[in-house]
Amino acid sequence: MTLQTWQSLCNKRYRLSLRLFLLLNAFSALFSIILPLRNQGAFTLPICFIVVLSVVLPLIQRFYPKVKINIIFISLIFGSLWAWHVIDKFRLLDGDAASFLLIALLSVLFIGSIAFSNNIVAFLVHSLPVFATCVWLNGEESSMRLICTFALPVLGISIQHVIQRRNDNFAQALMNRLIQERKTLNDLSMLDPLTGLYNRRGLQHKLQHLLAVDESSRFVLLLDIDHFKAYNDHYGHMMGDQALIRVSAALRDAVRSRDIVARFGGEEFMILLNNVNVEEARVIAEQIRQKVYDLKIPHMFNESVATNVTISIGIAPFIDGDIEAALSLADSALYEAKHLGRNHILVSGELQVA
Ligand code: GH3
Ligand code: MG
Ligand code: MG
Repeated sequence: MTLQTWQSLCNKRYRLSLRLFLLLNAFSALFSIILPLRNQGAFTLPICFIVVLSVVLPLIQRFYPKVKINIIFISLIFGSLWAWHVIDKFRLLDGDAASFLLIALLSVLFIGSIAFSNNIVAFLVHSLPVFATCVWLNGEESSMRLICTFALPVLGISIQHVIQRRNDNFAQALMNRLIQERKTLNDLSMLDPLTGLYNRRGLQHKLQHLLAVDESSRFVLLLDIDHFKAYNDHYGHMMGDQALIRVSAALRDAVRSRDIVARFGGEEFMILLNNVNVEEARVIAEQIRQKVYDLKIPHMFNESVATNVTISIGIAPFIDGDIEAALSLADSALYEAKHLGRNHILVSGELQVA
């Protein structure tokens, strides 16, 4: 679930509320046309407007979903049309029109309560014009009854509005947390837990992004710690892990932020150098080799190479986004570098020792 999903859910709720509002208005208007109070003035101009708008607006929504209909504006228009209708009708009803005013107010309040149960603003702009008109037409007499009739749903909807706001905030906070946690889990699944470098999955992910961006000249470096089995055997697995952590940090340190460093397997690493030519790649590889050497991690069993931990590096060009081909060439170069006596660098296709 994303923020867009949340937004689309809110939009859906908005549209449903508007549709319900228009449907109820259409029914209410048809009802007062079919069964007009005392058979007078069934067709007032505002009632016709209400019917037309209630039919046209859902059609606009249906065929032009991009058009955003403002619910507050629409409820104000409908509220004003109902108020106009009440005035027109009131003029036609001589004598006791109090029951008509009460019924008119109640039906507007009913529509508002159902359609805008948690939108107090829309509810108010829809019902206020009719309420004000009814109080004005009614005069002093029994206006207290109208005020109470109006106040009760306003109170109820206000409370509902607050509850809905809190529920929305809670749901949104929960969703943000889920998104954050999913991102963290996703990030973690791309990192090697021991060294903090990218694992193969992370590398794949980074490569996809990188290849989509630019087409700079790139080189792949495959690095392997020399005689690491002997290190583990003699110093123990825990010390082996510590050595891996220190070597990884040195690798990350030796390259630029635009380069990718990944733990490829046990004591094997891969580095992708961006925007370099073969000479620059060789220079960086040499800096990396030296940096690991300078860690001076004691390794008395690094047969005939040194008395500290060293690495060998195979270099290959990364062409046409074909990582498999580049890795295969780099692996062969690494294999050769090992044969040259370890603590060596070899560029694929060259037998040049650094
Ligand atoms: P070479 O110079 O030819 O690379 O010799 P090597 O001994 O490094 O090569 P080999 O592939 O035979 O041994 C790799 C060793 O790396 C085997 C395993 O004990 C060690 N290793 C692999 N992963 C880990 C790890 O996560 N932690 C530790 N401590 N050791 C590991
Ligand atoms: Mg090794
Ligand atoms: Mg190995």
